[in-house]
Amino acid sequence: MNPVKFYSGENIPLELHKVRVVQKLHLVPIERRLDAIKEAGFNTFRLSTADVFLDMLTDSGTNAMSDNQIAAMFRADDAYAGSQSFARLQQAVEEVLGKKYLLPVHQGRAAENIICRRYVKPGHVVPMNYHFTTSLAHILENGGRAAELLRDEALELKSENPFKGNMDIDKLVKCIEENGVENIPFIRMEASTNLIGGQPFSIANLMDVRRVADKYGLMLVLDASLLGENAYLVKQREAEWKENSMADIIKMMTGLADLVYFSARKLSSSRGGGICTNRLELFKEMEALIPLYEGFLTYGGISVREIEAMAVGLYETLDETMISQSPSFIAYLVREMEKRGIPVVTPPGVLGAHVDAMKFCSHIPQTEYPAGALAAAFYLISGIRGMERGTVSSVRDENGVEILADVELLRLAVPRRVFTLSQIKYVIDRMQWLYDNRELIGGLRFTYEPPVLRFFMGGLEPTSDWPAKLVDKFRRDFGDSL
Ligand SMILES: *Cc1c(COP(=O)(O)O)cnc(C)c1O
Repeated sequence: MNPVKFYSGENIPLELHKVRVVQKLHLVPIERRLDAIKEAGFNTFRLSTADVFLDMLTDSGTNAMSDNQIAAMFRADDAYAGSQSFARLQQAVEEVLGKKYLLPVHQGRAAENIICRRYVKPGHVVPMNYHFTTSLAHILENGGRAAELLRDEALELKSENPFKGNMDIDKLVKCIEENGVENIPFIRMEASTNLIGGQPFSIANLMDVRRVADKYGLMLVLDASLLGENAYLVKQREAEWKENSMADIIKMMTGLADLVYFSARKLSSSRGGGICTNRLELFKEMEALIPLYEGFLTYGGISVREIEAMAVGLYETLDETMISQSPSFIAYLVREMEKRGIPVVTPPGVLGAHVDAMKFCSHIPQTEYPAGALAAAFYLISGIRGMERGTVSSVRDENGVEILADVELLRLAVPRRVFTLSQIKYVIDRMQWLYDNRELIGGLRFTYEPPVLRFFMGGLEPTSDWPAKLVDKFRRDFGDSL
């Protein structure tokens, strides 16, 4: 998987870039971290980076930009309308994603807002491989619901299935037949399905989905936020595409979709987002919503500097040595944790490593949020901020009953080209210590629960004094170490 082999035979991911701008990090003592996580309501979203050592919360808007991206930001053409920066972005979208018409939006979920407002009506069902938090929220907001059609084995966390993000074609046909074509606004495919461990789909599967879409006259929408890494893993794992360039693979995937949308906070390592298509009628149907919700059609709520960075970042997505960085560091992190018996999602995917909290904290009932508890405990003992992807990130049904998540994961995001190998080794070391002391971790309960996307700002508290016990054990084992 790594582009460079070591003489020693060790499988080490090698940084193929050098660091030219640095930011000081703060590794505060565990006693301060205990106060910080209490102040944050045991929700890692609410921590200040002043108290965070390695920020592995997300890969969204936290990726390192290249020298060429930064340089491009200086030539940004500040104009409300007709900015040349936007023309450069349009050209990049056409050359890299193969789509002529572009609607700019301020981030990925804004694209979801526009698409769902336009196409999702009450009673509608959106078949998809798997949901993402914001995509589901926008479908629900417009009165629709999601039908998740992964193959059953995709939720087996430990596996060597190379394409867990594939859609089950039989389930798709059944879903369409049962709900009726008229109740299906579009089929949604998400590249590198975020919530189940950043797992890709194959091109063969996307082609099958396209055939079904054609048969029933349905639109196919591709969430391309994690497209670059999905393309990279296709090249690694799908034999038919081994010899093709990233450019060919990316165009093949986007070419199968009627509408492509993305968060540029991930794809292109910048900020912003877009919706693109080659079908003029679809572009026209959504066009009027952009000035209403985002901004004029040549900036869409994005700063022109970021538009320039996005254009350059899109071209850089075609560079395999660039795009391989995050997946190869993730593969190292996952395989090293696996060797130590720590339960992790395999095969390694994109955007981060995912620890199986249901196995790690098998003594914590799912109603006490094992993934949330693990995220808080890991921050406490390491200063590393991960993200809960489990029941805290889920919702309640119309009767207020928890919908328990399919999987309880602690996601440790690996932003693109940000961390060094010794920092990754620290992650592994502290995770091993926590695994060996896992019985000290206890559950959480909500003290403040917002009605929508509660995981962002929700507040929780421990169900016992387990955090203090972890601090005691840490001090006994590490002395006065940070
Ligand atoms: C991050 C993400 C989004 C939302 O994008 P934002 O820029 O964070 O609004 C949508 N879909 C997927 C798959 C994502 O990973």
